[in-house]
Amino acid sequence: MPKEPNYKAELVGVFGHPVAENPTIVMQEAAFRALDLNWRYLTIEVYPEDLAAAMQGLRAFNMRGINLTIPHKISVLNYLDEISTAAQLIGAVNTVVRKGDRLVGENTDGKGFMQSLRLDAGIDPAGKRVLVLGAGGAARAITVEVAMAGAAQITVVNRQPARGQALVDLLNQKTPVEASFIPWDGTLAVPGGIDLLVNATSIGLFPNVDHKPDLDYATIHPGVTICDVIPNPPQTSLLSRARARGARTLDGLGMLVYQGAIGFKLWTGLDAPVQVMRQALEEAFSAT
Ligand code: NDP
Repeated sequence: MPKEPNYKAELVGVFGHPVAENPTIVMQEAAFRALDLNWRYLTIEVYPEDLAAAMQGLRAFNMRGINLTIPHKISVLNYLDEISTAAQLIGAVNTVVRKGDRLVGENTDGKGFMQSLRLDAGIDPAGKRVLVLGAGGAARAITVEVAMAGAAQITVVNRQPARGQALVDLLNQKTPVEASFIPWDGTLAVPGGIDLLVNATSIGLFPNVDHKPDLDYATIHPGVTICDVIPNPPQTSLLSRARARGARTLDGLGMLVYQGAIGFKLWTGLDAPVQVMRQALEEAFSAT
Protein backbone atom coordinates (compact mmCIF):
# COMPACT_ATOMS: atom_id res chain seq x y z
CA MET A 1 0.00 0.00 0.00
CA PRO A 2 1.44 3.44 -0.87
CA LYS A 3 1.90 5.60 2.23
CA GLU A 4 -0.43 8.60 2.55
CA PRO A 5 1.50 11.85 2.74
CA ASN A 6 1.64 13.65 6.08
CA TYR A 7 3.00 17.17 5.76
CA LYS A 8 1.97 18.26 9.27
CA ALA A 9 4.85 18.67 11.70
CA GLU A 10 4.51 18.51 15.48
CA LEU A 11 5.43 21.88 16.96
CA VAL A 12 7.38 22.91 20.05
CA GLY A 13 9.60 25.93 20.66
CA VAL A 14 10.51 28.76 22.99
CA PHE A 15 8.79 32.02 23.95
CA GLY A 16 11.17 34.78 25.02
CA HIS A 17 12.16 38.43 24.66
CA PRO A 18 14.87 38.87 23.56
CA VAL A 19 15.05 35.39 22.10
CA ALA A 20 17.11 35.55 18.90
CA GLU A 21 20.29 34.24 20.56
CA ASN A 22 18.60 31.36 22.40
CA PRO A 23 20.54 28.26 21.24
CA THR A 24 18.01 25.57 22.19
CA ILE A 25 16.76 25.17 18.60
CA VAL A 26 20.20 23.86 17.62
CA MET A 27 20.10 20.87 19.98
CA GLN A 28 16.38 20.08 19.67
CA GLU A 29 16.37 20.15 15.85
CA ALA A 30 19.51 17.97 15.84
CA ALA A 31 17.69 15.49 18.08
CA PHE A 32 14.59 15.46 15.82
CA ARG A 33 16.79 14.80 12.78
CA ALA A 34 18.73 12.04 14.54
CA LEU A 35 15.49 10.22 15.45
CA ASP A 36 13.84 11.01 12.07
CA LEU A 37 10.94 12.83 13.75
CA ASN A 38 8.79 15.29 11.82
CA TRP A 39 8.95 17.85 14.65
CA ARG A 40 9.96 21.53 14.53
CA TYR A 41 11.38 23.77 17.27
CA LEU A 42 10.39 27.42 16.76
CA THR A 43 12.21 30.38 18.33
CA ILE A 44 9.39 32.87 18.95
CA GLU A 45 9.62 36.49 20.12
CA VAL A 46 6.81 37.10 22.64
CA TYR A 47 6.53 40.46 24.40
CA PRO A 48 5.63 40.36 28.11
CA GLU A 49 2.15 41.83 27.50
CA ASP A 50 1.40 39.13 24.92
CA LEU A 51 2.19 36.04 27.00
CA ALA A 52 -1.47 35.23 27.78
CA ALA A 53 -2.34 35.28 24.07
CA ALA A 54 0.78 33.28 23.21
CA MET A 55 -0.14 30.56 25.74
CA GLN A 56 -3.65 30.41 24.26
CA GLY A 57 -1.98 30.19 20.84
CA LEU A 58 -0.15 27.09 22.02
CA ARG A 59 -3.56 25.41 22.27
CA ALA A 60 -4.87 26.97 19.04
CA PHE A 61 -1.88 25.70 17.04
CA ASN A 62 -2.06 22.28 18.73
CA MET A 63 1.56 22.70 19.76
CA ARG A 64 3.01 19.87 21.88
CA GLY A 65 4.72 22.19 24.32
CA ILE A 66 6.95 25.19 24.80
CA ASN A 67 10.07 26.40 26.60
CA LEU A 68 9.98 29.72 28.43
CA THR A 69 12.97 31.99 28.77
CA ILE A 70 13.55 35.56 29.97
CA PRO A 71 11.19 37.29 30.94
CA HIS A 72 8.41 34.66 31.02
CA LYS A 73 9.61 31.93 33.43
CA ILE A 74 7.67 33.35 36.40
CA SER A 75 4.69 35.05 34.75
CA VAL A 76 3.82 31.83 32.86
CA LEU A 77 2.68 30.34 36.20
CA ASN A 78 -0.56 32.33 35.73
CA TYR A 79 -1.48 30.41 32.58
CA LEU A 80 -0.91 26.79 33.59
CA ASP A 81 -3.37 24.08 34.70
CA GLU A 82 -0.79 22.08 36.64
CA ILE A 83 2.71 22.81 38.01
CA SER A 84 5.22 20.19 39.21
CA THR A 85 6.24 20.25 42.88
CA ALA A 86 9.81 21.29 42.08
CA ALA A 87 8.67 24.09 39.74
CA GLN A 88 6.32 25.36 42.47
CA LEU A 89 9.19 25.46 44.97
CA ILE A 90 11.54 27.09 42.47
CA GLY A 91 8.79 29.56 41.55
CA ALA A 92 9.54 29.30 37.84
CA VAL A 93 8.70 27.12 34.83
CA ASN A 94 10.93 26.66 31.78
CA THR A 95 9.10 23.79 30.06
CA VAL A 96 5.38 23.34 29.36
CA VAL A 97 3.81 20.15 28.06
CA ARG A 98 0.33 20.25 26.47
CA LYS A 99 -1.73 17.25 27.55
CA GLY A 100 -4.99 17.57 25.64
CA ASP A 101 -6.33 20.95 26.68
CA ARG A 102 -4.22 21.08 29.86
CA LEU A 103 -0.93 22.93 30.12
CA VAL A 104 1.50 21.32 32.57
CA GLY A 105 4.56 23.26 33.84
CA GLU A 106 7.94 21.80 34.81
CA ASN A 107 11.36 23.24 35.57
CA THR A 108 14.12 21.19 33.95
CA ASP A 109 17.08 23.49 34.80
CA GLY A 110 17.89 21.99 38.20
CA LYS A 111 17.14 18.47 36.97
CA GLY A 112 19.53 19.04 34.05
CA PHE A 113 22.23 20.09 36.51
CA MET A 114 21.57 16.97 38.60
CA GLN A 115 21.85 14.65 35.59
CA SER A 116 25.09 16.30 34.48
CA LEU A 117 26.44 16.00 38.03
CA ARG A 118 25.54 12.32 38.21
CA LEU A 119 26.33 11.21 34.65
CA ASP A 120 29.19 13.54 33.60
CA ALA A 121 30.94 13.93 36.98
CA GLY A 122 29.76 10.71 38.66
CA ILE A 123 28.75 12.62 41.80
CA ASP A 124 25.69 11.88 43.97
CA PRO A 125 24.71 15.07 45.84
CA ALA A 126 23.31 13.11 48.82
CA GLY A 127 25.22 14.06 51.98
CA LYS A 128 27.32 16.69 50.17
CA ARG A 129 28.13 20.20 51.44
CA VAL A 130 27.39 22.61 48.62
CA LEU A 131 28.27 26.28 48.15
CA VAL A 132 26.28 28.14 45.49
CA LEU A 133 27.24 31.52 44.04
CA GLY A 134 24.09 33.44 43.06
CA ALA A 135 20.43 33.45 44.06
CA GLY A 136 18.63 34.01 40.74
CA GLY A 137 16.62 31.54 38.67
CA ALA A 138 19.47 29.09 38.00
CA ALA A 139 20.55 29.09 41.66
CA ARG A 140 16.96 28.52 42.84
CA ALA A 141 16.47 25.59 40.46
CA ILE A 142 19.80 23.96 41.36
CA THR A 143 19.53 24.40 45.14
CA VAL A 144 15.94 23.07 45.29
CA GLU A 145 16.88 19.91 43.34
CA VAL A 146 20.14 19.38 45.27
CA ALA A 147 18.26 19.85 48.57
CA MET A 148 15.52 17.39 47.53
CA ALA A 149 18.25 14.89 46.55
CA GLY A 150 19.56 14.87 50.12
CA ALA A 151 22.45 17.35 50.24
CA ALA A 152 23.65 17.80 53.83
CA GLN A 153 24.23 21.55 53.71
CA ILE A 154 23.81 24.43 51.26
CA THR A 155 25.54 27.79 51.61
CA VAL A 156 24.21 30.56 49.36
CA VAL A 157 26.55 33.44 48.51
CA ASN A 158 24.96 36.43 46.81
CA ARG A 159 25.70 40.09 46.10
CA GLN A 160 22.17 41.32 46.95
CA PRO A 161 21.61 40.04 50.52
CA ALA A 162 17.79 40.14 50.37
CA ARG A 163 17.72 37.81 47.37
CA GLY A 164 20.22 35.42 48.94
CA GLN A 165 18.41 35.35 52.29
CA ALA A 166 15.05 34.76 50.56
CA LEU A 167 16.49 31.66 48.86
CA VAL A 168 17.95 30.39 52.14
CA ASP A 169 14.59 30.90 53.89
CA LEU A 170 12.84 28.95 51.12
CA LEU A 171 15.31 26.06 51.39
CA ASN A 172 15.10 25.91 55.20
CA GLN A 173 11.30 26.10 55.24
CA LYS A 174 10.39 23.88 52.28
CA THR A 175 13.20 21.31 51.95
CA PRO A 176 15.07 19.04 54.38
CA VAL A 177 18.45 20.76 53.84
CA GLU A 178 20.25 23.02 56.31
CA ALA A 179 20.88 26.29 54.44
CA SER A 180 22.78 29.45 55.37
CA PHE A 181 23.67 32.74 53.71
CA ILE A 182 27.00 34.54 53.25
CA PRO A 183 26.90 38.07 51.77
CA TRP A 184 29.24 38.55 48.81
CA ASP A 185 30.80 41.92 49.51
CA GLY A 186 34.43 41.44 48.49
CA THR A 187 36.79 38.64 47.53
CA LEU A 188 35.29 35.42 48.88
CA ALA A 189 37.49 32.82 50.59
CA VAL A 190 36.05 29.37 49.84
CA PRO A 191 35.13 27.92 53.26
CA GLY A 192 36.79 24.65 54.26
CA GLY A 193 34.77 21.44 54.21
CA ILE A 194 32.88 22.20 50.97
CA ASP A 195 32.42 19.29 48.51
CA LEU A 196 30.82 21.20 45.61
CA LEU A 197 31.04 24.84 44.55
CA VAL A 198 28.53 25.91 41.89
CA ASN A 199 28.75 29.19 40.00
CA ALA A 200 25.06 29.96 39.32
CA THR A 201 25.66 33.60 38.39
CA SER A 202 25.93 34.97 34.85
CA ILE A 203 29.63 35.84 35.35
CA GLY A 204 31.74 34.54 32.44
CA LEU A 205 28.92 34.22 29.90
CA PHE A 206 29.86 35.03 26.26
CA PRO A 207 30.98 37.68 25.29
CA ASN A 208 32.42 38.43 28.79
CA VAL A 209 34.64 35.37 28.63
CA ASP A 210 37.44 36.88 30.76
CA HIS A 211 35.15 37.59 33.73
CA LYS A 212 35.33 35.25 36.70
CA PRO A 213 33.72 35.20 40.16
CA ASP A 214 35.52 37.28 42.80
CA LEU A 215 37.03 34.40 44.78
CA ASP A 216 40.31 33.92 46.61
CA TYR A 217 41.44 31.19 44.21
CA ALA A 218 44.22 30.12 46.61
CA THR A 219 41.46 28.75 48.89
CA ILE A 220 40.25 26.26 46.24
CA HIS A 221 41.51 22.80 47.23
CA PRO A 222 41.73 19.62 45.13
CA GLY A 223 38.94 18.01 47.18
CA VAL A 224 36.32 20.47 45.85
CA THR A 225 34.45 19.95 42.58
CA ILE A 226 33.84 23.28 40.86
CA CYS A 227 30.71 23.45 38.65
CA ASP A 228 29.70 26.25 36.31
CA VAL A 229 26.24 26.95 34.85
CA ILE A 230 27.74 28.99 32.00
CA PRO A 231 27.25 26.91 28.82
CA ASN A 232 29.03 29.28 26.42
CA PRO A 233 31.97 29.08 26.51
CA PRO A 234 31.97 25.67 28.25
CA GLN A 235 35.52 26.27 29.47
CA THR A 236 35.16 29.41 31.59
CA SER A 237 37.95 31.31 33.34
CA LEU A 238 36.56 29.97 36.64
CA LEU A 239 36.95 26.36 35.53
CA SER A 240 40.47 26.93 34.13
CA ARG A 241 41.58 28.56 37.40
CA ALA A 242 39.98 25.78 39.44
CA ARG A 243 41.73 23.08 37.40
CA ALA A 244 45.05 24.90 37.91
CA ARG A 245 44.40 24.52 41.66
CA GLY A 246 43.94 20.76 41.20
CA ALA A 247 40.13 20.77 41.57
CA ARG A 248 37.75 18.67 39.44
CA THR A 249 35.40 20.68 37.23
CA LEU A 250 32.00 20.33 35.55
CA ASP A 251 30.94 22.68 32.73
CA GLY A 252 27.50 24.23 32.16
CA LEU A 253 27.08 22.76 28.70
CA GLY A 254 26.13 19.40 30.23
CA MET A 255 23.39 21.07 32.30
CA LEU A 256 22.03 22.80 29.19
CA VAL A 257 22.02 19.56 27.20
CA TYR A 258 20.37 17.48 29.93
CA GLN A 259 17.69 20.06 30.71
CA GLY A 260 16.87 20.00 26.98
CA ALA A 261 16.98 16.19 26.92
CA ILE A 262 14.46 16.06 29.78
CA GLY A 263 12.18 18.44 27.85
CA PHE A 264 12.59 16.32 24.70
CA LYS A 265 11.46 13.22 26.62
CA LEU A 266 8.51 15.07 28.20
CA TRP A 267 7.34 16.20 24.77
CA THR A 268 8.06 13.18 22.56
CA GLY A 269 8.06 10.33 25.09
CA LEU A 270 11.40 9.19 23.61
CA ASP A 271 14.89 9.08 25.11
CA ALA A 272 16.89 12.00 23.78
CA PRO A 273 20.10 11.45 21.77
CA VAL A 274 22.20 13.33 24.33
CA GLN A 275 25.55 13.08 22.49
CA VAL A 276 24.02 14.42 19.26
CA MET A 277 22.55 17.35 21.17
CA ARG A 278 25.83 18.14 22.93
CA GLN A 279 27.81 18.00 19.70
CA ALA A 280 25.34 20.30 17.92
CA LEU A 281 25.70 22.90 20.67
CA GLU A 282 29.50 22.58 20.79
CA GLU A 283 29.64 23.26 17.05
CA ALA A 284 27.27 26.23 17.36
CA PHE A 285 29.22 27.74 20.26
CA SER A 286 32.60 27.25 18.61
CA ALA A 287 31.28 29.21 15.61
CA THR A 288 30.43 32.27 17.79
P1 NDP B 1 19.26 35.81 37.17
O1 NDP B 1 19.31 37.17 36.55
O2 NDP B 1 17.99 35.29 37.73
O3 NDP B 1 20.36 35.76 38.36
C1 NDP B 1 21.69 36.21 38.15
C2 NDP B 1 22.51 35.94 39.41
O4 NDP B 1 23.87 36.29 39.12
C3 NDP B 1 22.09 36.78 40.61
O5 NDP B 1 22.29 36.02 41.79
C4 NDP B 1 23.10 37.95 40.56
O6 NDP B 1 23.34 38.52 41.83
C5 NDP B 1 24.33 37.23 40.08
N1 NDP B 1 25.31 38.12 39.45
C6 NDP B 1 25.25 38.62 38.18
N2 NDP B 1 26.34 39.37 37.94
C7 NDP B 1 27.09 39.34 39.09
C8 NDP B 1 28.35 39.92 39.46
N3 NDP B 1 29.04 40.68 38.62
N4 NDP B 1 28.83 39.69 40.70
C9 NDP B 1 28.13 38.91 41.57
N5 NDP B 1 26.93 38.33 41.27
C10 NDP B 1 26.43 38.54 40.04
O7 NDP B 1 19.85 34.84 36.07
P2 NDP B 1 19.65 33.25 35.98
O8 NDP B 1 19.82 32.67 37.33
O9 NDP B 1 18.44 32.94 35.21
O10 NDP B 1 20.89 32.85 35.06
C11 NDP B 1 22.22 32.89 35.56
C12 NDP B 1 23.14 32.25 34.55
O11 NDP B 1 22.81 30.88 34.46
C13 NDP B 1 23.01 32.82 33.12
O12 NDP B 1 24.29 33.11 32.64
C14 NDP B 1 22.40 31.69 32.31
O13 NDP B 1 22.95 31.64 31.02
C15 NDP B 1 22.85 30.47 33.11
N6 NDP B 1 21.91 29.35 32.95
C16 NDP B 1 22.44 28.19 32.47
C17 NDP B 1 21.63 27.10 32.29
C18 NDP B 1 22.20 25.84 31.74
O14 NDP B 1 21.41 24.96 31.39
N7 NDP B 1 23.52 25.71 31.67
C19 NDP B 1 20.19 27.13 32.62
C20 NDP B 1 19.74 28.39 33.18
C21 NDP B 1 20.60 29.46 33.31
P3 NDP B 1 22.35 39.64 42.46
O15 NDP B 1 21.13 38.91 42.94
O16 NDP B 1 23.17 40.20 43.56
O17 NDP B 1 22.06 40.61 41.35
